[in-house]
Amino acid sequence: GKGRMEVTVLVLGLDNSGKSTMLNTLRPPEQRAQHLMPTVAQNHDSFQSGGVCFTAWDVSGAPRHRALWERHYRRAHAVIFVVDSADHLRLVVAREELELMLAHPDMCGRRIPLLVFANKCDAPHALAPMQIAAVLGLERITDKPWHVCASSALSGTGLADGVAWLARQIR
Ligand code: GDP
Repeated sequence: GKGRMEVTVLVLGLDNSGKSTMLNTLRPPEQRAQHLMPTVAQNHDSFQSGGVCFTAWDVSGAPRHRALWERHYRRAHAVIFVVDSADHLRLVVAREELELMLAHPDMCGRRIPLLVFANKCDAPHALAPMQIAAVLGLERITDKPWHVCASSALSGTGLADGVAWLARQIR
């Protein structure tokens, strides 16, 4: 190992995909909130995996705040994109948001890892990771390593596996 690494990860995804729940579940148990507040503009949190200390910026939210969260793109070392795997209609909107982010001048061509959490895998009719990859058009991404991981932010299922993949990409 190279000792402790500090890494900035951006967390993106449509509202209601489970970002706040996920960041809360990734906290050490004693720091978890009982009642989550809706994200206003931006929010940050931290967690560790595989010797990597991640500072996660929740940079999603209302499009009117876009200029605000796009300022974080430049210093990102990794991206977590969260989708609601059971919300089939809004996956198309999620794809558009993902494409906007990937095409941004501060993101395009940078070889930083992209982890997609296919969240709410516990919900009825949740799509499998391979189906999520197809709907999001991930096979077209050639400038970044990417991975889809099924997760349930409520129970924590899949979160450690996904974050461990990110840590391996970075070390
Ligand atoms: P955000 O807007 O992306 O931050 O989403 P939230 O974390 O506020 O979650 C939106 C809603 O989805 C809340 O009611 C959560 O309890 C619920 N939720 C989040 N993750 C999961 C999950 O993995 N499974 C299920 N069934 N519900 C979830």
